[in-house]
Amino acid sequence: MRLRIDAGAGSGQRTRGRGRVATIEAVQGDITTQAVDAIVNAANTTLLSGGGVDGAIHRAAGPGLLEECRALGGCPTGEARLTRGHRLRAQYVIHTVGPVWSGGGRGDAELLRSCYVTSLALAARHGVRSIAFPSISTGAYHYPIEQATEIAVRAVRECLARPSPVEVLRFVCFSARDLDVYQRLLSAD
Ligand code: ADP
Repeated sequence: MRLRIDAGAGSGQRTRGRGRVATIEAVQGDITTQAVDAIVNAANTTLLSGGGVDGAIHRAAGPGLLEECRALGGCPTGEARLTRGHRLRAQYVIHTVGPVWSGGGRGDAELLRSCYVTSLALAARHGVRSIAFPSISTGAYHYPIEQATEIAVRAVRECLARPSPVEVLRFVCFSARDLDVYQRLLSAD
């Protein structure tokens, strides 16, 4: 099941750049199989393979990805790093490090927002036209799904309301429950 929404829908910002409108959509699925230019990985600060979506991406991409990640020397929380996609269909993997939920009082929201903003900035610098995001921080890092999704949707709408090569942004939800949350918030103004 898929929901497509124009970036900026409800905010009066349906066009941007040369008049193109970016599509923001939510699907249920496995991010490793997405046929997009770049997939985003919810990594940890070491950038060395962990569990969850990170483990799935490394398994699908093969050992070359870990080798390339080792050379990057880690990534601070809220920032992003780019590698090639190796055996994935995606040309690039953008590794970003979400915050571990600490109750909301220690800049969690700003750090999570920064993951989306910095990932999209990096994507733009590499001419990425289609990109898939997992639900960053909402697995092992325990960020509440509703709050995390609000931050994700607001951040990407704001980024894609400005000139960017990104034409399609897909949120790939692992569970039907997460997809429900994304669909509800994408439909809302
Ligand atoms: P974090 O440590 O940032 O919380 P996790 O990998 O534990 O990252 O979880 C982030 C989200 O990714 C969770 O919603 C989890 O269910 C989801 N996830 C796990 N594997 C995949 C996958 N192959 N494709 C898409 N999402 C996935």
